[in-house]
Amino acid sequence: RKGTVIITGASSGLGLATAKALAETGKWHVIMACRNFLKAERAAKSVGIAKENYTVMHLDLASLDSVRQFVDNLRGLARPIDVLVCNAAVYQPTAKEPSFSAEGFELSVGTNHLGHFLLARLLLDDIKQSDYPFKRLIIVGSITGNTNTLAGNVPPKANLGDLRGLAGGLNGINGSPMIDGGDFDGAKAYKDSKVCNMLTMQEFHRRYHEETGITFASLYPGCIATTGLFREHIPLFRLLFPPFQKYITKGYVSEEEAGKRLAQVVSDPSLTKSGVYWSWNKNSSSFENRLSKEASDREKARKLWEISEKLVGLA
Ligand code: NDP
Repeated sequence: RKGTVIITGASSGLGLATAKALAETGKWHVIMACRNFLKAERAAKSVGIAKENYTVMHLDLASLDSVRQFVDNLRGLARPIDVLVCNAAVYQPTAKEPSFSAEGFELSVGTNHLGHFLLARLLLDDIKQSDYPFKRLIIVGSITGNTNTLAGNVPPKANLGDLRGLAGGLNGINGSPMIDGGDFDGAKAYKDSKVCNMLTMQEFHRRYHEETGITFASLYPGCIATTGLFREHIPLFRLLFPPFQKYITKGYVSEEEAGKRLAQVVSDPSLTKSGVYWSWNKNSSSFENRLSKEASDREKARKLWEISEKLVGLA
């Protein structure tokens, strides 16, 4: 049978390129889990994904009700779930004020981390039951949350501190909208959310890999300077960022190439190792990369897990 892979945020950028790469193999049915149904349908058609290889389903990660509804609808399809890719993200580098998810969490962490945390937790059992030769749960990470890299050292740097803001509910009313309890900074909130993604992947691995046989992985696909992620940046930045990445840092990858990389983490029979953060070298071959001190801090991962469970109503 075909494998079934769910990709969140498959309506543009990396998610769309990955959906296309997997659908083209003829071995995968892609569930495009998107907040904008029409946009996702149009996107699938525009890149030529054949009708029989995808299904668009509504999912708004900025609402925990929507996440639960999505899981119910998915189970209604009565399809085995083999792979989940947590890819969607919002990035608000120029926002002066925080915005909030339906439950009142700061939007970047609420969407990128908490929405995905609930989704992944709810689908864990479904993936566990898959009889596919390999079953995987992939959470897209980023270099920007890794302070052991050059890109990760561009201020404002990621820093979760002692998680006091998160423990306070991240709502900016009775506390801070930032995980570390500091003042709002949209670029930092995004980087913090990516650290959460990488910590969550490792905590899943420690808690569930042996019991479930699921491969948990994260990755940095390269700098895809052309995606919609930068849509809220100032125009000059959007003009200069792609050539800067292409010619100066040489970290640039096309959406197509990045999509192939993520598709590899989904489907390559040799990438079965769990708990790994994948990166690619200049020849586009994958290697196990090292995470920064904070992004591999076990104690922080455990604490993040426990607080997140409370916030999304699992504990
Ligand atoms: P895009 O902005 O192109 O794609 C983001 C996707 O997330 C879109 O499909 C968007 O939907 C979706 N999304 C946003 N909010 C929600 C929500 N509330 N519910 C459901 N879906 C939502 O960016 P990229 O493709 O660049 O980003 C994809 C991933 O890659 C992210 O995890 C990002 O952190 C990561 N990444 C990107 C890098 C880059 O250089 N671009 C580098 C490293 C990592 P819609 O189409 O409706 O807006």
